[in-house]
Amino acid sequence: MLNVPLLDTWAQNGPLENELEAVFSRILKSGRYILGPEVEAFEKEICDFTNSTHSLAVSSGTDALLISLMALGIGEGDEVLVPSFTFFATAGCVRRLGARPVFVDVCPVCFNLDPHDLAGKISPRSKAIIPVHLFGQMAAMNEILEIANEHNLRVIEDAAQSMGSLYNGQQAGTLGDFGTFSFFPSKNLGGFGDCGMLVTNNPQLFEKAKILRVHGMEPKYYHSFIGGNFRADPLQCGLLRIKLQHYEEYCRQRRDNAQQYIDLMSNIAGITQANYPHCQCSNSDSTANEESERKIILPLEYPHNQSIWNQFTLRIPGDGSPRDKLKAYLSAQNIGCEVYYPVPLHQQECFLDCAPDECPVATQLSKEVLSIPVYPELNRQQLEAVVNSIASFLKND
Ligand SMILES: *Cc1c(COP(=O)(O)O)cnc(C)c1O
Repeated sequence: MLNVPLLDTWAQNGPLENELEAVFSRILKSGRYILGPEVEAFEKEICDFTNSTHSLAVSSGTDALLISLMALGIGEGDEVLVPSFTFFATAGCVRRLGARPVFVDVCPVCFNLDPHDLAGKISPRSKAIIPVHLFGQMAAMNEILEIANEHNLRVIEDAAQSMGSLYNGQQAGTLGDFGTFSFFPSKNLGGFGDCGMLVTNNPQLFEKAKILRVHGMEPKYYHSFIGGNFRADPLQCGLLRIKLQHYEEYCRQRRDNAQQYIDLMSNIAGITQANYPHCQCSNSDSTANEESERKIILPLEYPHNQSIWNQFTLRIPGDGSPRDKLKAYLSAQNIGCEVYYPVPLHQQECFLDCAPDECPVATQLSKEVLSIPVYPELNRQQLEAVVNSIASFLKND
């Protein structure tokens, strides 16, 4: 039986083996194992790629978020608005600093922060918003930035899953005060361990972040505030620089795979593409009935966005059991798939003390989503195997 993993890191890294070994050898011999030219060269390349004036390579995407919040002075008594439907780190960083994450509901089409719900959850204690560009597609930034400006809130874009995505032609991570990226192996620019990056066009915020990366130390052994060890390794940066040369091709191949899925699956009875309005104008329940007739809903890329398709995420409407049935069916056929994310953050045990917020869409999505393989090296035969399995599941259902 054909094996189709959810992600195949070796398929991507294997062809680069010689180049990657040469990087290791170069850095080994350089003797420079903390910060220095390799890290700076990677930062410069990320600035060029994202059109940012400043960037800082750090230990992980999580730490990029944490440093951004610290640089903005977020702490005890503050509230930070975050989507309920995202990876844990987005809200975990807020809570670690003693601030309260306020959970905002999301759009059922693009899975991102719903500006309507955002506006309703702002309070006098609100200090910042962290829009997440989930699965590779950017959130409704015009609406979010308008609300932020109106209430004098800072914006950190959690672009861990979307470096290189575009919103009206603008790069993810460059529209807020900070943008943060992750190079965790499953992200589009997948590294060889943990690494992250933050970008900003604000020189003062950049300086603060840079000092926070080394324990808040400036000058050497003098600390006017407290930071941490948030450094990225030169080795990791050197290896990522090799992969960055291929990054646009990786993203193009993911886009191509997503388009093939959409072309092949839209013709199958029971599968449709989400086709109702953008989250900026979706306050209606008018689609709820129509939606319940569908067995599988394909993800949709809005015309003003260009997604990098970090995930290709289906929705299987229901109480969770139809989705779980499809997941079991695909797994039995050696097709990798995963639920991102099974528990909305406002229902996580660790947040129950600070999260009375209601997020019905996030709760529903956690019962309906299933991500299938879309990685760049997925070949046509594998892609068709995924589609055929889904089609046979629907037939037998
Ligand atoms: C991966 C991810 C992070 C954290 O990045 P790490 O590098 O794993 O620390 C944060 N937010 C989102 C949305 C992510 O997907």
